[in-house]
Amino acid sequence: MTDDELLLETDYTSYANSCRDPHIAPGDDLVECRRQRDHDDTHGTRAGGRALRWLAHQGLGPLP
Ligand SMILES: [Zn+2]
Repeated sequence: MTDDELLLETDYTSYANSCRDPHIAPGDDLVECRRQRDHDDTHGTRAGGRALRWLAHQGLGPLP
């Protein structure tokens, strides 16, 4: 998925229908995945004009 495709998906997905996986972005901002729920591949959201992606189970500290 390209950045443009990711940004398009986040823009066209309502908050209620989005995945909302939490992630600590660079700068300690808490963001939530805004891709469609049950999406494949990495989580992602819009950060200003950029696409931000992260893998599942990363960003909230180490796994147990
Ligand atoms: Zn997600």
